[in-house]
Amino acid sequence: MVWLLRYCKRCDRYTLKQVCPICDGPVKIPHPAKFSLDDKYGKYKLLMRRVLKKDEEESEIG
Ligand SMILES: [Zn+2]
Repeated sequence: MVWLLRYCKRCDRYTLKQVCPICDGPVKIPHPAKFSLDDKYGKYKLLMRRVLKKDEEESEIG
């Protein structure tokens, strides 16, 4: 499972998309590239779950 959380500094927003869904700008990966779901980055797990939901809701609107 590939899941890389990305962050747009301009919009202060997390997304799973390659570019920011708000401003179409570049996004960065806010966590280490290599880490498993079992390690200490539990907060990113939680964050990603929320971002996933948010992205889905927004794509329904469009
Ligand atoms: Zn943005």
